This record gives sequence, structure tokens and C-alpha cells, in this order.
Amino acid sequence: SKWKACLKTNFLTLATIGGVVCGIILGVILKETVGSFTKREVMYVSFVGDIFLRMLKSLILPLIISSLVSAIASLDLSLSGRIAARAIAYYLTTTVAAVLLGIALVASIRPGSGHGDGFVNESTDTEIQRNVTTVDTLLDLVRNMFPPNIIQACVEQTRTNLVAPANNKNETDLYNWDVDEEIVQGTNILGLVVVAVVVGIALAQLGEETRTIANFFHNLMALSMKITTWIIKLSPVGILFLVTAKIMEMEDMGMVLGQLGLYFATVMVGLLVQGFIVLPLIYLLLTRKSPIPYIINMSQAIATAFGTASSSATLPVTIQCLEEKNGIDPRVARFALPIGAAINMDGTALYEAVAAIFIAQVREVELTVGTYIAISITATAASIGAAGIPQAGLVTMVMVLDTVGLPAEDVSLILAVDWLLDRFRTAINVMGDAFGAGIVAHRSQKELNTLPKQNETS
Ligand code: ASP
Repeated sequence: SKWKACLKTNFLTLATIGGVVCGIILGVILKETVGSFTKREVMYVSFVGDIFLRMLKSLILPLIISSLVSAIASLDLSLSGRIAARAIAYYLTTTVAAVLLGIALVASIRPGSGHGDGFVNESTDTEIQRNVTTVDTLLDLVRNMFPPNIIQACVEQTRTNLVAPANNKNETDLYNWDVDEEIVQGTNILGLVVVAVVVGIALAQLGEETRTIANFFHNLMALSMKITTWIIKLSPVGILFLVTAKIMEMEDMGMVLGQLGLYFATVMVGLLVQGFIVLPLIYLLLTRKSPIPYIINMSQAIATAFGTASSSATLPVTIQCLEEKNGIDPRVARFALPIGAAINMDGTALYEAVAAIFIAQVREVELTVGTYIAISITATAASIGAAGIPQAGLVTMVMVLDTVGLPAEDVSLILAVDWLLDRFRTAINVMGDAFGAGIVAHRSQKELNTLPKQNETS
């Protein structure tokens, strides 16, 4: 009966992991027997998964805002300051650790050197071919932190585009190009995070005076979490269809041997080391608790991250796993997780560094110590700037390539395997956030105990 109880509490997680596995098997069988599929056929199969994804995504906005506002409003201001400082310190250290790990691996394995089969430059979509400089990307990142209109921030954000000067179309130095500010679709998550933090701080300061508004956000959070529990129940089926459809539309991977295969393996080794050695060790060191049950308890979130390739879409599940299964204080989980999902991406940081250096190796660009340092910094920034949506890292990598003096088009070299790496790095991104929340909660225990618990716990 102990077995039965265990099975009962973990049924959903097992089923979700089963969904991933069955999705892969089904996809491979379909691919092997039928060959290629039209976009329409893929769409029919992904339909169910898409509905699941839409439901999860619909929670992101209310969840991020209500969780941050209510967590901060319910804390002492000095305490939220300390929790924030701990979280930021953890995010930065682990991200930099991931980048250094990636650099060490790619510099020693050297997947891009040697005389491989050579690459055929495939056509890439224009989104990725965009020309951009490191400075403009960083300025965009900061600019988007200050949305002029909150409603607008829910649907769009600012992006700087570069256009060749009219009088000199052949200008190659991007810094001499003209800048053009463009509005692009997509929630400005970072901007909303900043707004929510500021609102939370203001509510905490005003205290009794704005109790009603603070309570509203508490209740909105409880409401979002309630709906989350319903949607999570659909994850086994949703993820199965998402994975199957993704494999159906996959291009022939036969060419993935050679240099690209070695690159894939390098990123994978890095991700596994970061997720299953580096982060667990840091967790063990800082909390003196075993990381193994902690990981097992978040496997639902890990499977969802793999299935959706989006840390933002996974956020509701991550919060659920941490609060319900790992028993993390909601005041910390609701504070650290939304911020982590927006800015803390260990997997993406590692991947950005490995990919940029891999491309530099293929292009036979000489890399100095200075370039390595520049890559570490830009890869960290690129991971912070990447949104928690599928293949966002591929887009922000343009900035890392720029530091090495490589053109944006060169991301086409790694395009063939990116959809798959994306899933693995998203899983590691989510693990990074989860470990962070666990560590910060542990280190903040004493201070948290001095405050009265929030009235609602789930
Ligand atoms: N898909 C990743 C995430 O959501 C971001 C990336 O493309 O690296 O975490």
C-alpha cells in the first residue's frame, strides 16, 4: 500500500514523463514509416498539444504579476531586499559558472575545428538574420525594463533595428548603421517583472492603507494556482502531442554526424554537468540537504520544460512543484521563480557560449583570452536578455556572435539541431530556477520565521 500511495501521489508526474517518452517513440515511428509530413498534417497532430500550451501560456501574465506583487507585499521590505540580493547573487554565480563550463568544454573538445564535412548554408528566417550590435541589444534590454505603458507591455516590446545608411549602402561596420526603434509582438516579461516588483514594494510601504489592493493580488495568485492544478492534469496528453508533432516536422538528422553532432554532444554534456552535478552540489553545499529528492519532486516541471521549450510556460508548473512537493515557502517561491524564469537561464548561457565558439572554430576565427572574456560577458547578458520562449536563445546569440566579429547569418550553422537543444536547455533553465528558490528559501529561513505566515498557503 506504500507503493500504491507513492504511485498515487506521483501518478501525474509519471504520466507526464510517459507522455514525453511515448511522444518520442510515436514521432520516430511515424517518421520512419511515413517519411515526411506536410505542415497541415503536423498541425493536426500538434493541435491537442497546442491547446494545452495555450492554456499554460494564458496563466503566465496573471501569475507573474500576482505572485511577485503578493510575495513582496507580504514581506518586510528589508527582508525582500535580502531575499532579492541572495537570489540575484545565485542567478549570477550559476549563470557565470555555466558559461565557464561551456567555454572549458568547447575549447577542449573543439567540435568546430578539423576538416569536417563542411556546412551548406541553408536559408534562415529573417528573424534570425537581423543585424544587431551588442550595445543595442543591451540598451534594448534595459529599455524594456521600463515600459511606458503597462497594458502595452502585456503584448509588445521595443526592439532596435539597424539599417544601412542611405548614402553608403556598403557600410560594413554596424556601428555606422542607422538605428530604428521598432515595436515587436510578444509580452515584455522583464518590463512586467520590474513593474510588479515596484508595485509590491509600494504596497509593502503603504501597508494598511492599500490592504485591499494587496489582498486582491493575493487572491489573484490563489486563483491562478487553482487553475494551474487543473491545467497540469492535462500535461501527459498535451506534452505527448507536442513532442510527437515536433519530431514529425524534424528534418533529416542524418547529417547531424560530424562537426554538428560533436557540437550537439558538447552542449549536452555541459547541460547535464550543470544540471546534475554543478547545481546539485551548490544546493547540497548551501542547504546541507540531499538534492536528489528535490530533483525528483520537480520532475513534472522538468518534463513540462522539455515538452514546451519555454520556461515561461513552465512557470505555473514550477511554482506548483516547489510549493506543493518541495515545501518551499511560497513567499520565496513566488518571489524568486518568476524573476528566475525571466532572467536566470543557465542552460541558455552555456549554450550561447558553446555555440558562438563553435561557429568561430568552424569559421577559423582566432580567439584570444580577451575574446573569451568578451564571450563570457555577452553570453551571460544574452541569456538574461533571452525571453523564456522557444528558441529565444538562438535570437539573442546574434549579440555573442557580434563580439567575435561573426555575422548574424552564421547561426544557420547550428539551426538543424537547435529545436532539440532548446528543449534540453529549457529543462536546465527551469532546474536552475528551482534550485535557486530552494537555496534562497533555506538561507532566508530564520528571517522568514520571524514574520507571520501568509494567510493562504496554496
Ligand atoms: N527556450 C528557452 C527557455 O524558455 C530559452 C532559449 O531559447 O534558450 O528557457
